[in-house]
Amino acid sequence: MQMPLPFVGNRIITKLMLVKYFSPQQSIFYQCLYMKSLIELNFTASARRASVLALVLGLLMLPSTLMGQTDVSRVDERLANSADAQVERLLAEMTLEEKVSLCHANSKFTIAGVARLGIAEMCMSDGPHGVREEISRDSWKSAGWTNDFSTYLPPLTGVAASFDPEMAKLHGSVLGAEARERNKDVILGPGCNLARNPLYGRNFEYLGEDPYLASVLIVPEIKAIQANDVAACAKHYALNTQELNRHGVNAQPSERTLREIYLPAFEAAVKEANVLTIMGAYNEFRGTNCNQSKHLIMDILKGEWGFTGLVMTDWDCDINSRDAAINSLDIEMGTRKPSYDQYFLANPFLKMLKSGDVLLAVLDDKVRRILRVQIAIGMMDENRMPGSRGSKQHQEKARRIIENGIVLLKNESDRLPLNRDQLKTILVMGPNADVAHGRGGGSSQVKTPFEITPLDGLKKKLGDDVKVIHLKAAPPASAGLPPIGADFIATRHPGAGTPACKILVYDDTKREKQSSIFWSPSARLRFDDGEMHHQRLVANLVPLRDGKHLFRVEADGVVELRVNGKKMLSSSQATLGEELEAEVELKKGRSYKVQLNYDGNQGYTLGWNAPGNPYVDETVYLKAANEADAVIYFGGLNHSYDREADDRANMKLPGNQDYVIPKLLEANPNTVVWMVAGSAVEMPWVNQVDSVLWGWYGGMFTGQAYADVLLGDVVPSGKMPFTLPRKLADNPHVHLKDYDAENCFYREGVMMGYRWFDEKEIMPMFPFGHGLSYSTFEFSDLEVSSKQFDPGDKLTVTFTIKNAGSVAAAEVGQVYVEDMASSVARPRKELKGFKKVWLKSGESKSVDVELNHRSFAFWDESTNSWKVEPGKFQIHVGDSVSGIKLRGVITAK
Ligand code: BGC
Repeated sequence: MQMPLPFVGNRIITKLMLVKYFSPQQSIFYQCLYMKSLIELNFTASARRASVLALVLGLLMLPSTLMGQTDVSRVDERLANSADAQVERLLAEMTLEEKVSLCHANSKFTIAGVARLGIAEMCMSDGPHGVREEISRDSWKSAGWTNDFSTYLPPLTGVAASFDPEMAKLHGSVLGAEARERNKDVILGPGCNLARNPLYGRNFEYLGEDPYLASVLIVPEIKAIQANDVAACAKHYALNTQELNRHGVNAQPSERTLREIYLPAFEAAVKEANVLTIMGAYNEFRGTNCNQSKHLIMDILKGEWGFTGLVMTDWDCDINSRDAAINSLDIEMGTRKPSYDQYFLANPFLKMLKSGDVLLAVLDDKVRRILRVQIAIGMMDENRMPGSRGSKQHQEKARRIIENGIVLLKNESDRLPLNRDQLKTILVMGPNADVAHGRGGGSSQVKTPFEITPLDGLKKKLGDDVKVIHLKAAPPASAGLPPIGADFIATRHPGAGTPACKILVYDDTKREKQSSIFWSPSARLRFDDGEMHHQRLVANLVPLRDGKHLFRVEADGVVELRVNGKKMLSSSQATLGEELEAEVELKKGRSYKVQLNYDGNQGYTLGWNAPGNPYVDETVYLKAANEADAVIYFGGLNHSYDREADDRANMKLPGNQDYVIPKLLEANPNTVVWMVAGSAVEMPWVNQVDSVLWGWYGGMFTGQAYADVLLGDVVPSGKMPFTLPRKLADNPHVHLKDYDAENCFYREGVMMGYRWFDEKEIMPMFPFGHGLSYSTFEFSDLEVSSKQFDPGDKLTVTFTIKNAGSVAAAEVGQVYVEDMASSVARPRKELKGFKKVWLKSGESKSVDVELNHRSFAFWDESTNSWKVEPGKFQIHVGDSVSGIKLRGVITAK
């Protein structure tokens, strides 16, 4: 039977969609046209049926494009098909100058294209937990767009705490789809570094302290990003573990430490996820910048691991043209040079190529890699995926991820979940109750269309039936003059995005030569070095009410206060402990530029009495606490502390938290403490409190997820992805004096994170992997598929988890391996497998976890390879590194 022409056309459209030349949207469009023509032409019923079928197929596939692709990777298809031939064709036609133009930035976030050959500019964007707002082409200023909002996802610490690869996949699928919709080619994430040091400002951007956990989660994250025709960028390669002198600190781990701890996540990104781009770290590695390290890039990344993608610098790295060129850096971004032509891989590189100092083959390798990535993500494919942004489905994913990452650290007396029926009044306090965090943190900031704060979430959840009182605690009188509160400060730290005062530092009293600038989250500074300090604090203050504002200054030495340029007070002999005052009439909502000039050696505080001051003193909040049915305290850090470019000075909670929390507990034992932070903090009051939760910067649905957990509609199932030490001094970097601006020796070697606490038998406050539930679980029936392990083989560890409580809940079965006798010092336990299982009340499930050669191996420095030594290994199964429930022994041959 001869097929009518429209029927054939119809089949072709369907086929084109299935082989992904047409997007589902395009297919639906063409199918509709065909349907129309078929109806008009009165074609056969079977032809019409075929059209309907194709239409339905298109509609079924549509949600996957709206929600972000996760499974189908056209990247791999393109690479497998014609990429190499196309690369060679283009390369053959490019001039030397055109090739070099691809190796460096031509704006803040792009590299040049070659229009005559159809090579477009390649566009990049931060960042790891949402596509960053559009930045100006040639400056760090916002481009001022009004349509560049993105879904604000929980940062990677929140994903890590879910201990669930599915959450990483959801995370990546949103990032990829939204980056594509914003016309980005590379999304600058995920971060693959580890939380070695709790003071490190960027811990919140990464996946915790364990190399195995990070490796397992990074793979679905990257695959899901790249399934959207966008390249992921695994960063910052490698050893980016402190912000203290981040551009210059020289990381010098042993080779074993490097391989076992700091590289596995990158290795998984390359070998398992096929990541297309890698960003080098700011720091040095063994004496040279990471971006031009032969060992890191040539030997390991592109050599041993066979990475075929491109390596780009972080924005402004300390490199030089020759080393960067020959040691295989492909793209240079963000260097602070007056023009893009002056970048190390621009004219200076071109000159070396022309003189024969650097071989053309070196350049060609870079260009091949760049073109290959561009082809892989469909930059030269007319049917590249369109992406999508801000959809309900994306928001839903953001919500699911944070729900899965919230950690219940402690719940004695089963205070949680709160019983709604017993609540008439609750008091909400703490510095994070009403703070949104999306716009902070540095390059990873997200311009989110909304962010539900913990207070908003609770109010919405509890409705009008429960009275929610929100109070902000003024610092205790004993703390002296309170600095002006963040609520009034309109100046924002340019990197962190949080309210901060700008501190200009001068060489002398003349204030002619400014030596540096820094930002302080507080208008109080103290010095204990005995030196003279010449500073100017500048802050734009916005009053909350009209009226008289009493400025109060406490300082030693010489001070002067100006408001909008007008001198308000001064002293040439100020002493700490005495206040200078000046009353000024200010208008609500207007911004006033306040400057405090200071020359002294002890410090200064700028405070004020402002009408409408939102801070109440102790008697007020303690009375309210006493009268409330429950108190929820949202404390922790914010992006003044968890942020790029700076580490924290200590592990203490900022402000008056350690003062207020115990007072609240005294006033009302039904006080729940909820920590919002991306790095460990000390909690000196922890033994006094029954219920403690940890919630991360939770993305746009933070408050909703928090309220759902507090009220029991979501059962917490997260686990700590890093150890919570009792005190700063317990950490190896302090203990071993291995934290300074010059060098980082990683003296604890492979004993990083929980491995250190295990080894030294230091009790942490909460161990790695710890997290409770509103249910309880029983572990039983451990079996290992064989008592013997042949190197190169696989083993399956099987055990049963039973939900012994009365609510449906999830537990994460964690498998740790211990080498019982080894020729080298090995950690007592190392995470080598885990699985999160959801169980109904009373339900049991058998869990399988696979172990392989790497699960038992260490990096043998004498042979430069992974080695499994014969002998006994203990398999530990539990609900945290310290909560071991089952043990078994196997023997490696
Ligand atoms: C950060 C990177 C970021 C880049 C571009 C750098 O300061 O370290 O993570 O991707 O800026 O914003």
